[in-house]
Amino acid sequence: MSQLRTGYIYHELFGWHDTGTQAGMFPTDPSRGLQPFVNYENAETKRRIHELIVVSGLIDDLTRLTPRQATNDELLLVHPQEYLTKLKKISDQPLGGDAGDGETPFAKGGFEIATLAVGAVIELTRAVLAGEVDNGYALVRPPGHHAVKTGGMGYCLLSNIGVALMTAKQRNPDIRIAVVDWDVHHGNGTQDIFYDDPNVLTISLHQDRLYPRNSGMRTESGIGTNINIPLPAGTGNGGYLYAFEEVVRPALKKFKPDLIVVASGFDSSVYDPLGRMMVTASGYAKMTKVLMECAADFSKNRIVISHEGGYNAVYSPFCGLAVLQELSGTYKLDDPFIHTETYPGQALFDHQKSEIDLAAHHSLPLL
Ligand SMILES: [Zn+2]
Repeated sequence: MSQLRTGYIYHELFGWHDTGTQAGMFPTDPSRGLQPFVNYENAETKRRIHELIVVSGLIDDLTRLTPRQATNDELLLVHPQEYLTKLKKISDQPLGGDAGDGETPFAKGGFEIATLAVGAVIELTRAVLAGEVDNGYALVRPPGHHAVKTGGMGYCLLSNIGVALMTAKQRNPDIRIAVVDWDVHHGNGTQDIFYDDPNVLTISLHQDRLYPRNSGMRTESGIGTNINIPLPAGTGNGGYLYAFEEVVRPALKKFKPDLIVVASGFDSSVYDPLGRMMVTASGYAKMTKVLMECAADFSKNRIVISHEGGYNAVYSPFCGLAVLQELSGTYKLDDPFIHTETYPGQALFDHQKSEIDLAAHHSLPLL
């Protein structure tokens, strides 16, 4: 594939979103034996993805874009004023607070950083649709795919992709957009926002009922434009690529989007502390390649990738680099953890195949 112009957005403030001291996913609580440590969702993973992109030299082959804060009017396209006012008020308090579910803490100034993350995805989407770049990656924090219209959840304050796509739809009313979510958790927020929209296809591949526990089932089809592919714990490259060939590619071929958007979590990776999947850096690159082939066929190469989860600070940078190398067609470094490719568990297993076949049989006829 010839080299494409790839946009890239990161801002140092994304690393200053402060999720506080925790025992991983729980607040510290000596009475339960929960010792103070880091919140799994902390700055390191994302900061180190950015640093590897710089140190590898890939940054020189990317088109650096500048984020801006999303405006209140843009945020209102998804979130009600009541929620935005509440979030801003919490953000102005000296010690911050929580975005809604008790699991989404943020410190003072977190609202402004979250609006910068939304604005980064808006800006990348605008640049791709304007033809300034062909595709691109917004390395944003906090993530967005769990945030619903009326509240934050699962580390997400605002729907980065939801607001960005609503602004794109405002400028291009007939645009058809497909969102592919490869984060290990269900993209419940994106599903919620576009559930009744015939022009936005949402597809989520996730570990079956990992988070949120009560969503992401195959039966959640909406008007036929929502596809859930719940995968058994332990699924590796073989299962993910089979799902891409049997469900994602045929769905995109049928839907023919003008733009493909990816909710990119590296928590489906083999070393992630929160997920129990086995995708490797080259697995992520291969999924990127399938989407690029689809985008070349009917989306004018347009792909916007928005960063979501991924909590192994050592391995996630190689996943990020692999995706951006594939997107840009520029290869700088191999994955030093290449031995994970040869784990026997990377094969497609029958119990995974049958779940994926069920997702295909349920969803594709509805589309
Ligand atoms: Zn996740």
